[in-house]
Amino acid sequence: MAAPAETGPVGGVALPDLAGDLAALRQAHRYRARRLLETPQRPRARIDGREVLSFCSNDYLGLAAHPQVVAAVTQGAARWGLGSGAAHLVTGHSGAHQALEEELADFVGQPRALLFSTGYMANLGVIAALAGRGETVWQDRLNHASLIDGALLARARLRRYAHADAADLARRLADGGARLIATDGVFSMDGDLAPLPTLAEVAAGSGAWLLVDDAHGLGVLGDEGRGSLAHWGLGAVPGLILMGTLGKAFGTFGAFVAGPHALIETLIQRARSYIYTTAPPPALAEATRVALAIARREDWRRERLGELIARLRAGAAELGLPLAPSQTPIQPLIAGSAERALDWSRRLEEAGILVTAIRPPTVPEGAARLRITLSAAHAPDDVDRLLEALADLPREAMP
Ligand SMILES: *Cc1c(COP(=O)(O)O)cnc(C)c1O
Repeated sequence: MAAPAETGPVGGVALPDLAGDLAALRQAHRYRARRLLETPQRPRARIDGREVLSFCSNDYLGLAAHPQVVAAVTQGAARWGLGSGAAHLVTGHSGAHQALEEELADFVGQPRALLFSTGYMANLGVIAALAGRGETVWQDRLNHASLIDGALLARARLRRYAHADAADLARRLADGGARLIATDGVFSMDGDLAPLPTLAEVAAGSGAWLLVDDAHGLGVLGDEGRGSLAHWGLGAVPGLILMGTLGKAFGTFGAFVAGPHALIETLIQRARSYIYTTAPPPALAEATRVALAIARREDWRRERLGELIARLRAGAAELGLPLAPSQTPIQPLIAGSAERALDWSRRLEEAGILVTAIRPPTVPEGAARLRITLSAAHAPDDVDRLLEALADLPREAMP
């Protein structure tokens, strides 16, 4: 085989200018770089060689490094080995996966649950399995990227309605049908809730599926952490599909979709991101079973979160800080420009506090923010330290 040429094409067309594009990103304060974490995920972390108090993980219940969860991986690997060795539909579906699916279905009160490798893949798989080319998929303007990408992969007609506005959706549906409506249960960058009861009514009235992505509600909201649906008192609603992730409040990795038997069987037949991929390690499923049991029974973790949220919001109100209206562990402080969000994040880091700046395109233009997240692993003192550092941010920079 010929070695690749070391020089550019002779007389060919120039390659795209990646370096120029990267420089432009930097110029626009949109360049992103990874930080190097040197400890397990926890509030007192070491990152890039420095001890920080961190407010930016999604480990809401503090389970990511829980000793019993970690031990379950070790024991699971001893029992099952590490690799699953195949896709679920070949020979990769183990007793550990099956047990976890049954426990998840019981947890959310749905007939069946189906494991996916990630939440991103679950959303791609569900939407493309249920909505065909040219069919209409309606989505909240602030939905997670994986929901949007699912509609693109399906080659569906992607339409958006105003954020958390079921009346806007109902109005727009009047001039055309819908195959599927998708929404975050708790919005990932804003922490506010989708109005699920009214969305469910609109969906039922138009014969559309309602897909609820509860990545940030499960474990946190509702009795035993059953999530947004439990928070709103929604039981088994026909046409409702729940997607949950396992890498956030449950502290492990992966995702699931829950719903009626025929829906789950359809996904097994048709969801390409389920079919054409290796099943996750069974030991991971064992760890998630343990994490799920802890999340269900240890109400103190949700109570602690509630106290920390109240403490942060009361302190911020006293300081006149513009926290977005959110009752969940996601507490965004809106900065406006990407530049300002970055400046605030840098200043906090100088004070030993880590809060990441979230910039466009993750959030809309002009809505860059500090995304503060709380965890049951935080102490009240940690919130007080955060408030002191927030008080020192330049006031004239506040929107
Ligand atoms: C994190 C997240 C996902 C993706 O889940 P992963 O398991 O991390 O791929 C999907 N939807 C929402 C709303 C999320 O926040």
